[in-house]
Amino acid sequence: MAEFRRRQNSDRWHWSRACSNYPTEEDVIISHTIPEYGSLCEECKEKEPLEKD
Ligand SMILES: [Zn+2]
Repeated sequence: MAEFRRRQNSDRWHWSRACSNYPTEEDVIISHTIPEYGSLCEECKEKEPLEKD
């Protein structure tokens, strides 16, 4: 499973390091499961489609 991360001032989750908006700061919120709130980044979906199993 991917690692989801978002910036503290955003509710958009990223998981692809290829995403141009992927948070690289240290001060981010990390989730190891698909987040149940907020939104999923469209660019990350393109770069790294989520597995559905
Ligand atoms: Zn993204």
